Amino acid sequence: MLNPYVKKIYKCFRCQEEIYFDNNTKSQTDKPIPLDPITNLPHDCSKSNFKSRKKTVSNEIMELEKREIERIRRISYD
Ligand SMILES: [Zn+2]
Repeated sequence: MLNPYVKKIYKCFRCQEEIYFDNNTKSQTDKPIPLDPITNLPHDCSKSNFKSRKKTVSNEIMELEKREIERIRRISYD
């Protein structure tokens, strides 16, 4: 029997990364949105033409947050 929770994995035609589609996740135009099977977030295509500056900034913020978490961990272990 097929497990209904197993995601049908496709490959992004642009970057060849794994993506999947979820019928519950659609854009406002009712088109399925490619999702990242690891994060379950909309696929952030590295080869996308619509690469926005905003995205780059948020990645930088995430990186900073990671470092901050690491720093706090180290302090709490000392
Ligand atoms: Zn892609």
